[in-house]
Amino acid sequence: MQLSATYSQTWDLENIFSGGSESSTLVQHLEKLEHELPLLKKYIETLEPTASLASWVDAIQPLQKLGSGLVEARSFLDCLESQNVKDEKAKVLSGKLTQIGATYEAVITALESKVARVPESDWQQLMKSPELNQVSFSLNEMRKRSLEKLPPAQEELAGDLSVDGYHAWSEMYSTIVGRMQVPFEEGGETKLLSVGQLANKMASPDREVRQRVFEKWEEAWRNEADLCAVTINHLAGYRLQLYKRRQWENVLKEPLDLNRMEGQTLQTMWDVVAKNKHRLLPYMKRKAEMLGVDQLSWHDVQAPLPGNKQTLSYDEAAKFIIEQFEQFSPDMASFAQMAFEKRWIEAEDRPGKRPGGFMTDFPISGESRIFMTFSGTPGCVSTLAHELGHAYHTYVMKDLPFLAQQYAMNVAETASTFAEVIVIDAAIKQATSKEEKMVLLADKIQSTIAFLMDIHSRFLFETRFYEKRKQGPLTRDELCELMVEAQKEGFADMLAEYHPHFWASKLHFYATDMPFYNFPYTFGYLFSAGIYARALQEGAGFATKYVDLLRDTASMTVEELGKRHLGVDLTQPDFWQDAMDLLMADVDEFLALTEA
Ligand SMILES: [Zn+2]
Repeated sequence: MQLSATYSQTWDLENIFSGGSESSTLVQHLEKLEHELPLLKKYIETLEPTASLASWVDAIQPLQKLGSGLVEARSFLDCLESQNVKDEKAKVLSGKLTQIGATYEAVITALESKVARVPESDWQQLMKSPELNQVSFSLNEMRKRSLEKLPPAQEELAGDLSVDGYHAWSEMYSTIVGRMQVPFEEGGETKLLSVGQLANKMASPDREVRQRVFEKWEEAWRNEADLCAVTINHLAGYRLQLYKRRQWENVLKEPLDLNRMEGQTLQTMWDVVAKNKHRLLPYMKRKAEMLGVDQLSWHDVQAPLPGNKQTLSYDEAAKFIIEQFEQFSPDMASFAQMAFEKRWIEAEDRPGKRPGGFMTDFPISGESRIFMTFSGTPGCVSTLAHELGHAYHTYVMKDLPFLAQQYAMNVAETASTFAEVIVIDAAIKQATSKEEKMVLLADKIQSTIAFLMDIHSRFLFETRFYEKRKQGPLTRDELCELMVEAQKEGFADMLAEYHPHFWASKLHFYATDMPFYNFPYTFGYLFSAGIYARALQEGAGFATKYVDLLRDTASMTVEELGKRHLGVDLTQPDFWQDAMDLLMADVDEFLALTEA
């Protein structure tokens, strides 16, 4: 492969705030936020329900400016803490920013209760005004949210109590996990591993190692199951009690609202998943044969198939990604090229960095940054494309008002998966050997299995657990039973062994900022597959439609997005079925490739 450029693998943060965690401009920026937020809160508290348009604008414009300022600082500090986990100054500033963020939440709560009291006809007039029209979706949400909640004083009390009575359970969980140490023998030596280290070993290509890791893993969580059971029961109990007070019958109300989707859409999506899951079974059978076992175990599902994967240098990966984006959208390609050239990406493989990858945006600068550690594997190339997909999403929205940029998790994962799939499919098509093609296809199908089977089982467990929890706490054994039952259904009874203590081992069940941290992933994956199917049909012309869709992701519900930009009804199965058919074509290709 010919190289056209040499890109730096470290990012440039200087133009955001110069001087890293020593930055005096950052300190000034934080002081300004700290000073202005309480003033805005006071101003909002004086607003009358019949206040003039100008008075409302005087609240909502500064709110957006301060919101952007908070995100700008948060992103910067996340970048500092990720590039160097020992940056103590950044940690201190980050703690300070969290406090400032709490004041911002209080400002939002104050505004919510104010907008709820505006008479309906006045409200309609305000929303039609050119000053507020672009953010009307978000303001309508605030108004609706406030009407569905308890009176402001009670919500404020609940908010104050949640610090130690709700979020504290999530912290408790982190404490339990953080002190866990698991003895594991390797090369004749027994070492104490953290759960993160042990989890990484589950991806070993050696089945004997995986089997041992899996046994140790289950045992480690069994030992902590009492504490985890107390934690999950109380966390859920708090949530249910608050919902009951607000008269929210359905536990899915909050996560559905946060993801701006209807329950019917979610139901239809899962129905289509359940109906099509059996099409993954031939892949699982073939994989079992290739591993020399009768049936896959839990730890085999995501295990790599034996075979060589081609590695790429960073420059080769950049070139490959830009070329593949170009096929679909020249605009997306030139965006990616700019991100490489302007050093928006931190990819260097060096010690002291945080694991994982993310994209974060700077609404004031109108830029974004990507963090990852690049080691040249196809997985790294996918991650890079994934994060560039997120970055492109924020890039096409950068001229919109702050409140019209705040898209939810389900559509965020749509843009990233879309970019990722473009690159993975190209890599599969261009694979030079049968073996390489097979390995890449298997990786892709395993993602499909994760979203359609694993995530489905988490969703089934969590909904059933919350229903039962309404009657009282569940014992650790009941939690395990419920988990295995959900896994059997999720994996269509195809596994030889299940993971009863998964409910204890999965952080997402203990997240308090986003309840039901599962179905938005599957939504994003299938929604992007449906969009990809459409892009393949429509060719080059689809790129502008895609940008229009992305720009609207924080200004309407997903059902409206589907209707306006794709002409589909997401509450009906057709769109989901098309997405499914596209994904299942990979299985057919894999089976043909590995015949005999
Ligand atoms: Zn993502």
